[in-house]
Amino acid sequence: MLNTLPGLNYLEKADRRIRHIANWAQFIVNPKPQLVCQTLDHDDVEIARQLLKHPDRWVDPLIEEKFAKDFAKWNGSRHAFSFLSGRAALSACIFALGLMPDDEVIVPGFTCVVVPNAFDFAKVKVVYCDIELETYGIDLAALEKKITPRTKAILIQHLFGLVCRDYEKIIEFARDRKLYVIEDCAHSTGAEFKGVKVGNFGDVAFYSSELSKIYNTIQGGVVITNNDSIAKNLSRFHEHALYPDNERIEKQLHNVIVNYYRFKHPLRNYLGPRYESAYRDKLYDSTSEEEVLGVKPKDYGCKMPAAIARIGLNQLNKLDHYSRKRRHNAKRWALWCEKNHYQKPLVVTGSVPVYLRYPVMVESEKKRDLAWAMKDPGVVPGRWFLSNIHPAKRSVPDCPNADKAVRQCINFPTLF
Ligand SMILES: *Cc1c(COP(=O)(O)O)cnc(C)c1O
Repeated sequence: MLNTLPGLNYLEKADRRIRHIANWAQFIVNPKPQLVCQTLDHDDVEIARQLLKHPDRWVDPLIEEKFAKDFAKWNGSRHAFSFLSGRAALSACIFALGLMPDDEVIVPGFTCVVVPNAFDFAKVKVVYCDIELETYGIDLAALEKKITPRTKAILIQHLFGLVCRDYEKIIEFARDRKLYVIEDCAHSTGAEFKGVKVGNFGDVAFYSSELSKIYNTIQGGVVITNNDSIAKNLSRFHEHALYPDNERIEKQLHNVIVNYYRFKHPLRNYLGPRYESAYRDKLYDSTSEEEVLGVKPKDYGCKMPAAIARIGLNQLNKLDHYSRKRRHNAKRWALWCEKNHYQKPLVVTGSVPVYLRYPVMVESEKKRDLAWAMKDPGVVPGRWFLSNIHPAKRSVPDCPNADKAVRQCINFPTLF
């Protein structure tokens, strides 16, 4: 059977008892807060285990549509389409807007390599733009200087779950010049501006449920739009997208299980290494080495199969609960900043961030060597991003603030 792995049977049989013990033992073992997979719970593991027994349920357009519809409803959007990753969702956006080779798109110079890759794969020219250091979004003044007659679109990011500082002004700026706005909401699923979820202000937006994001299906992505003609194009792209093969789906379901024990289970310090070695050949990185080098993977651009959509539906039900927790825990980091005289990230007037992480600019020595953080505050901070085009070691011209964020911006976990 697919889901029987040697060496862990005794643990999986004793699962209920282990969780019971863990509920009180966590006060003794006190595992450190983790940066990823914090919305995966035992109910997700149960769904993954059931699905592993029933490969006949892995593809089912009704479930896939239900996930997209439920996401759209939750997000307050007219249309949604689901893909196997945020990056595939971005590729759908590029197609749906009709961006052509040699068109230019403006992208912040502080991003994830899969973002420029999606444009490179479509031969759309990426023009990098500097960011501001209050919310790490595109800086409008820098943006104005990057516009050329070939500019067709602007990609704005809401990083760390914050709403970017120049949001409203950039949308207005783009409208005046008839430029498209793509919103990268990979970090900020559920953040609000003026009572509306981010992503609904631009022409098209994408969200991610990769394991380091707001909600978690190991990999996953959604595109939304409120524009009916863009939706038609998205629908066409989605229709032609392939499903991942069964081997890939099986791996992803196993990753739900193993990553729960590695990162979320209260006894993860003990169970994590055991699951990690038992599932060694199931683990994979969200971004392959070839992708870091800018090579298009052969299974790029798949749509989300029902197996993953079922996990997604379960995660969607818990998303608001976890986001409330994130917002609550962010207050701890605000106090930490005040005590240690660091600048707190800006909460734009009218916005409600979701705080995927709590970003802080510290001295560059402190970003290089994080040992200090084990003492106070006693957690391992994240280091997004370690380069302008993370994790590719590429720099970009003319983005001094982004360079500074690369040297100094760290982030704290918000689920613990
Ligand atoms: C993670 C991420 C993406 C891509 O999402 P995937 O689901 O991993 O493809 C895009 N933009 C940013 C800023 C991200 O952090």
